[in-house]
Amino acid sequence: MDTKYIFITGGVVSSLGKGIISASIGKLLQARGFKVTIQKFDPYINIDPGTLNPYEHGECYVTTDGMETDLDLGHYERFTGIHTTKDNSITTGRIYKTVIDRERRGDYLGKTIQVVPHITDEIKRRMLRRDVEGEELDFVITEVGGTIGDIESAPFMEAIRQMRWQLGRDAVCVHLTYVPYLKAAGELKTKPTQHSVKELQGMGIQPDILVLRTERHLDDALRMKVASFCNVDLECVIQSEDMPSIYEVPVNMQRQGLDAAIMRKIGIPVGETPAMKSWHDFLEKQKAATQEVQVALVGKYDLQDAYKSIRESLSLAGIYDEVKVRINFINSEGITKENIGRQLAGMAGVVICPGFGQRGIEGKIIAAGYARTNDIPCFGICLGMQMMVIEFARNVLGLSDADSSEMDPATPHNVIDIMEEQKNITQLGGTMRLGAYLCRIRSGSRTSEAYGGVEDIVERHRHRYEFNNRFKEGFESAGMQCVGVNPDNDLVEIVEIPALRWYIGTQFHPEYSSTVLHPHPLFISFIKACIDYGTTQA
Ligand code: GLN
Repeated sequence: MDTKYIFITGGVVSSLGKGIISASIGKLLQARGFKVTIQKFDPYINIDPGTLNPYEHGECYVTTDGMETDLDLGHYERFTGIHTTKDNSITTGRIYKTVIDRERRGDYLGKTIQVVPHITDEIKRRMLRRDVEGEELDFVITEVGGTIGDIESAPFMEAIRQMRWQLGRDAVCVHLTYVPYLKAAGELKTKPTQHSVKELQGMGIQPDILVLRTERHLDDALRMKVASFCNVDLECVIQSEDMPSIYEVPVNMQRQGLDAAIMRKIGIPVGETPAMKSWHDFLEKQKAATQEVQVALVGKYDLQDAYKSIRESLSLAGIYDEVKVRINFINSEGITKENIGRQLAGMAGVVICPGFGQRGIEGKIIAAGYARTNDIPCFGICLGMQMMVIEFARNVLGLSDADSSEMDPATPHNVIDIMEEQKNITQLGGTMRLGAYLCRIRSGSRTSEAYGGVEDIVERHRHRYEFNNRFKEGFESAGMQCVGVNPDNDLVEIVEIPALRWYIGTQFHPEYSSTVLHPHPLFISFIKACIDYGTTQA
């Protein structure tokens, strides 16, 4: 079968959950036995979101091949278990950079370089993938960021228009819109959807399928109205009502025949509806999980999306154990030695979040210290692990000025130090230690137990600073063990205090590889420890 292409655009407002719909379509097609990839095209100029503040853009997700990407790629991986790469996350900046680099090399042989056709051709080239590492794809799902009508997304729309025309039935356009409910009028309004589709049609794109986001159920008459105003078949007007969990979206889409509609449009026999047993089993477990476990998330960004993958990983590990993880965000900037006991009261576990720069780190150190001295399960991730190390150096090893050279370049006790390879780097974008690296785990450690005795693991990184091996012996003899080390360069990737219930810090980001059907073993192990600890406290 030739590769088929699904384009997903959004209208009316942003934040409708295009990423979830894209991931759900991927899941449903996978369930039908197709090989699928999902990619995101973002219309902003940054080469990647790696240099963006999380308040601008939420979490930065990292692929195994070391690309800093949009957080929607996290949804794609969690829903489908596919591995995304740098080819799955494209921005206007990357498109232009490729074209401009080509122009500088002289590849265009004296031609004037223009948005159409040069930029649009480069967009098309990247959208029209056929394989992943040589393995042929059945479906490429392309989500375009932003909202129809944005000036900056126009070249992407033009590229989709052209491809639609070239590919004929091998391409399907899905448009996601919003149907607001006006309380005063007591009515659901379809006009924004009609306008949004008109805008799309004005760009030469006729959507095949409409997914209407709504907070209230849409009846057939309303769907019929949308169908006839927008030239879309009734069965292709799908509603996406708010769900208690995003993981119910694929099932809801399947129930309304979204995948079947795609098959019909493309001309593939629809066949039987896949049972998706493991997914349903997961949803059953999620519904059954009523007992709550309170986990504190200590970070500096008071924004749901800033720690998206960590939040999802915690919840998924909870569902695996049939408990509901309640995540209590604690802003580390507000943490003091005096209030930490109150802030962590009732918590069954503490997660110290990743991050950059000085702001909020003293609070993270205080939280790590409180968890250590009170033996509360504690999981430090990246900067969180570094704060665990600094806290231990200051309060156990007695090195009161211990710090990371990121925060205090002059400290003689730089227990966290800049990596050798990072010392001469001047450009910030895409230059960290990024992507998957090998780590060898010490057998008999708590971490080894969590990983089920596996010796070599591969995890994703995003950092410039690292445990300073000069201090390793001191740490180990005082009780903090370096139980995970990169065998190629001796970088310490995991620390733990075996004398405590669960006190583990990882230099890597396990949250990037936790999926719905396979939550990450460290999160599973951490949540188990939280459940045990919570029970002893109750
Ligand atoms: N700022 C730290 C470093 O660069 C930690 C990075 C992170 O938490 N992702 O090493």
